[in-house]
Amino acid sequence: MIVRKSPAEIEIMARAGRVIAHLHEVLRDAVAPGVTTRQLDELSARELRSAKAVPSFLGYGGTPGRIPFPATLCTSVNDQIVHGIPSSEVTLRAGDLIKIDAGAIVDGYHADSAVTWIVGGEDAVSEEVRRLVARTRSGLWAGLSNAAVGNRLGDISAAVESHAAPSGYGVVREYVGHGVGRSLHEDPHVPNYGRPGRGPKLVEGLVIAVEPMFNLGTHETRVEADGWTVTTADGTLSSHWEHTVAITADGPRVLTARSDEPEWPLRSPELVPSASVAG
Ligand code: MG
Ligand code: MG
Repeated sequence: MIVRKSPAEIEIMARAGRVIAHLHEVLRDAVAPGVTTRQLDELSARELRSAKAVPSFLGYGGTPGRIPFPATLCTSVNDQIVHGIPSSEVTLRAGDLIKIDAGAIVDGYHADSAVTWIVGGEDAVSEEVRRLVARTRSGLWAGLSNAAVGNRLGDISAAVESHAAPSGYGVVREYVGHGVGRSLHEDPHVPNYGRPGRGPKLVEGLVIAVEPMFNLGTHETRVEADGWTVTTADGTLSSHWEHTVAITADGPRVLTARSDEPEWPLRSPELVPSASVAG
C-alpha cells in the first residue's frame, strides 16, 4: 500500500532529512586513512543524539538466525555493496571505497541517504573507479530529477539505469529503493532498472528513497556469514548513492540534499552531479 504524505508531514521529513544531510557532511570530513568504520559509527551515534534524532537502523530487522542490525550506520567497503556492519577491525586505507548509509527518525518519520567516498581523495584510485562512483551518483540524480508528478515509476528506474548501461556496469537487482515515511521501508519498490512509461503513476505526496547500486562486474550479489553484509558475487567494486525525495506540486524536493547539492534539482540543474564530471 502506498501512503501519501501531507505537506505538513513532508516538512517533518525534511527535518529528518536535514539531520542526515548534516551527519553525512560530518562523516565526509572524518573519512581518512587509518579511521575505523566503528569510529565513524561512534561519531554518527553522537551526532544523532545531539540532534535529538533516533537512528533508523539500530536494532532493525532481527530474524531467526540474524541479529538485529547493531549500529547506526551501514559501512560497506570496496566489494561490499550495502548493509556492512561497522567494526573496530575495519581500518580505512587510501584508495578504498567507503559506502556510508544513514537513516534517522524525527517526530516519527524517517529519512534515508547513502554516499560513496573515495578514501584519500580521487587521486587514490584509477579513472575506472572514479567513473564508477561518478556515474552511480549521476544515475541517482537522473532518477531524482524524474520524481515528478505525471511521470511513472519506470521513468525513474530507466533514468537511473541509463547511467550504468554505457559502461556495462552490473545494476544490482536484489536490493532496490523504496517508499519512506513512518516506516523506513514502505511501498513502492523503486528498482534501478526498468522501462520508461511503465509502473504506477507518481503522485503528489509520494516520498521515496532512490538508491542506485552499480558494480564494476556483474549484478550478482551474495550475503556474508554475518547475515547482513551484501557483497558483489564476483568481488568487483561497487558504488551506492541514495537520497530521499518527495514528489510535490512544485517538483522533486530532495529532503536529504547536502549543502553542495540542490534541494530542487529541476530549478538548479547546473548543480546536479553529471556523468560528464568524471568523463
Ligand atoms: Mg539507505
Ligand atoms: Mg534505503
